[in-house]
Amino acid sequence: HFNPFRNLICGVDQKIPVGEFNIQHINFDNAATTPPFKCVLEDILDFTPWYSSIHRGIGYKSKYSSIVYENSRKVIASFIGANLKEHNIIYVKNTTEAINKLSFRLCDMHKNCTVLSSSMEHHSNDLPWRDKFNVDYISLNDMGMLSIEDLEHKLISYDGHVKLVTITGASNTTGYMNPIHEIARLVHSYDAKLLVDCAQLVPHEKLNMKSLSNDEHIDFVVFSSHKMYAPFGIGVLVGPKEVFCCGHPDYKGGGTVQLVTDDYALWDIPPNKDEAGTPNIMGVVALVSAIEMLQGIGMNQVSKFERNLLNYSMEKLLKIPEIKIYSSLDTSVPRVSIIPFNIEGIHHSITARILGEEWGISVRSGCFCAQPYMQKILNISPTEIYSHLKQNQIPPYGVVRLSFGIYNTFSEIDFLVKVLEYIISHKDSYLKKYSVAPIYV
Ligand code: PMP
Repeated sequence: HFNPFRNLICGVDQKIPVGEFNIQHINFDNAATTPPFKCVLEDILDFTPWYSSIHRGIGYKSKYSSIVYENSRKVIASFIGANLKEHNIIYVKNTTEAINKLSFRLCDMHKNCTVLSSSMEHHSNDLPWRDKFNVDYISLNDMGMLSIEDLEHKLISYDGHVKLVTITGASNTTGYMNPIHEIARLVHSYDAKLLVDCAQLVPHEKLNMKSLSNDEHIDFVVFSSHKMYAPFGIGVLVGPKEVFCCGHPDYKGGGTVQLVTDDYALWDIPPNKDEAGTPNIMGVVALVSAIEMLQGIGMNQVSKFERNLLNYSMEKLLKIPEIKIYSSLDTSVPRVSIIPFNIEGIHHSITARILGEEWGISVRSGCFCAQPYMQKILNISPTEIYSHLKQNQIPPYGVVRLSFGIYNTFSEIDFLVKVLEYIISHKDSYLKKYSVAPIYV
């Protein structure tokens, strides 16, 4: 049960107050945010005496910080298989900002065209497209996986009007990984481009944007630092240079221009044009540090280890008849280590409360910002949703989510399973004690 990666992470053996005691915290909510690598904090500390404004000074520290900032793009490129000759690597705040930014850019280029999203997306890869494009959704099969047949059917029926297909690399709800290179080949054969939301993919699996064959390349990639062992505040948007070189930036201001007069602005070249305001050098230092650590461990190792955690917990949970799992029980299905479940007869938010408040186990419950997906997984009809809305209520449906990181252990899973069994055997008294907590949508 020894985990060689555990010691690399900050705060994993943290004790937290639970009732009268301080007990060991267990974090099974890594799909929301991971704790940082220790090396990330060390690198931030080491760099602190050196930081200064990027691209805005010829003082030593400013020049040094600018070099570190620019060199970081090479690290990002090597991590995801991008190529700085062909791609722009643009720093943003997070995945949400990256997708919004791209939606503005593409909206400028392709008015009145169609974007295909899917029914398994995080709201951040759905809502930004809605007000700018004709959006349609690739449907799912019975297991809640993307239907490639429906994608092809839609590409054919829109007859050349689809300019972008935007899908998740791995779902934050079921963990399912989409076959992104197979999808890329299909999408490119209809002259469209592919964006992959990699927020849940790159912390857990090796990504190669370029892939082996050219028509299987991924055009756009987005991800966030705080889900990959670095703190909040930095994210990445990667895409072909020709997309970013023209047009106006969505955010305008310092750093985006070469010349400004009273009535004219000459935009700088990308990525500067798309990084308005003083850049987040400390975020970049942290992200680079986390990436180098992940590369040092090896993404194949990361994925293999997490796969073992997933299989181990699935095997244990499947033995408990009162637990219903909402993703495929076939463990060979490609996915990252996420398990959506409910205990029969206990509201998801109550299970999450008991785990957190009595046992120090953090999980998330609710819809994980993927409500249309949750509605499909749980078979919630539109009529049911509207009847709640008419009474000014947020519908109470949802599930509990376990999501693992490289530092989680088999013993933590053993403990969780024992606790779940305890909760099930004391269900009635728990139901008397707990009421439904605020529901996270
Ligand atoms: N996409 C997916 C698949 C996610 O899981 C998340 C975060 N839960 C996001 C996008 C949004 O990421 P952020 O909040 O960092 O912008």
